[in-house]
Amino acid sequence: MYSTLLADATFHELLLAFDRNLADSARAPGCALCGGVLHSAKYPRKPPRRMHALGPEHDWRFSFCCAVDGCRSRATPPSLRFLGRKVYLAAIVVVVSIMQHGISERRMRRLTQAIGVDRRTVARWRLWWREVFTATPFWQIARAAFMPPVDENRLPAALIERFAGGAAERLIALLRFLSPISGGQVQAR
Ligand SMILES: [Zn+2]
Repeated sequence: MYSTLLADATFHELLLAFDRNLADSARAPGCALCGGVLHSAKYPRKPPRRMHALGPEHDWRFSFCCAVDGCRSRATPPSLRFLGRKVYLAAIVVVVSIMQHGISERRMRRLTQAIGVDRRTVARWRLWWREVFTATPFWQIARAAFMPPVDENRLPAALIERFAGGAAERLIALLRFLSPISGGQVQAR
């Protein structure tokens, strides 16, 4: 069950560990514009509600700022935890969107109450998958790798089915797959 992963602190620790690795890889080569040293310039991303206790390090998105005066360019590495610059967590956006297909109204209400999102937000996410995500250059290219083609009316459920393993492996594989768009202009709100 994907929804139980949202309440699993170990799963979130794992996502944080992946993000730390991605951040280290982004920082090591230095500023992409001038080669300068990158300093930490993380920013707060606290979700509206947690289903469990996590350390404060989970409420920050890794980001870097060039230390060179006159450059100061920002570099935000891809993330498995945050789908965009907005507050909602990628795992929540994915899992709730998947659950929409095939669970009862009542279970859906319990889930959205537990994570503190309203119906309008869920409807907005559905629209995001169908209209914004499918129009991204990333998906326009990535979708060609799936045969038979992924049913875009059933995103992201139709996508996570293409990855192997148990619920946690599949969810991580999907979040990793989506990470190239996590720092860009196209994001779930
Ligand atoms: Zn620089």
